[in-house]
Amino acid sequence: MRLQDKVSIITGAAQGIGLATALKFAREGAVVIVCDMKPEAVDAAVAQCRAAGARAAGFAVNVTDRAAVDAMVAAVKAQFGRIDVLVNNAGITRDARLQKMTIEQFDAVIDVNLRAVFHCAQAVTDTMVEQGSGVILNASSVVGIYGNFGQTNYAASKFGVIGFTKTWSRELGPKGIRVNAVAPGFIETPILSTIPDKVLDGMRAEVPLRRLGKPEEIANVYAFLASDEASYVNGAVLEVAGGLTV
Ligand code: NAD
Repeated sequence: MRLQDKVSIITGAAQGIGLATALKFAREGAVVIVCDMKPEAVDAAVAQCRAAGARAAGFAVNVTDRAAVDAMVAAVKAQFGRIDVLVNNAGITRDARLQKMTIEQFDAVIDVNLRAVFHCAQAVTDTMVEQGSGVILNASSVVGIYGNFGQTNYAASKFGVIGFTKTWSRELGPKGIRVNAVAPGFIETPILSTIPDKVLDGMRAEVPLRRLGKPEEIANVYAFLASDEASYVNGAVLEVAGGLTV
């Protein structure tokens, strides 16, 4: 029980890596706050966390809506008294080559993957500073380190998240708050659903482990980073990619 009673907000927790992280945190004893846009999916994820033995609450929140994020944070504080962990996991793709990318595609990805990470982190920081402790974990990507064809917007957002991580680890480290990023490789979640099978086969072949990752394999890393076992890990970007980038 590495996260016993740690009040943990996980954004984008209704499916994929976020749901796997919510369930992992639930099994590690955390109080899990499921945040996602789809109300029914939020309720289903909360039910799964409770079935795993955790205290859990759900918030149907679009993280690009600052007022809604602030209201969620206030409600969590009122109900549970503290905020120990924020996992900034919600993310989207809107892929197109540079010459074809629309402003709408660009803005949508920057809004969710970058601006909303700023909203959520800023919304919890006063509480964490008052506590003198806290952990903020940001979802980057190997694409944020190495770039990727067709992902101008996504690569910029995930590189930006690394900038947040490094900056906040300097600003907040002296106040007892650790900030780290995880850079997954190719993970089997609905976010890959638009990618043709042939391309997925090519992706598998590129990975030294010769397979895509599972959401649980990212969730395990978030749980480690959120726990006291990672007490001296701050400002790090941890690649979890099966050796893809070696
Ligand atoms: P996913 O599409 O399966 O799940 C994302 C979740 O975020 C969904 O439940 C969605 O409803 C939620 N979400 C999206 N926009 C939101 C918003 N505005 N407000 C609240 N919730 C919102 O994605 P995933 O594959 O589980 O990815 C999770 C994170 O990991 C993302 O940030 C993604 O960029 C990153 N990542 C994924 C991979 C991969 O291969 N799957 C690789 C690297 C990084």
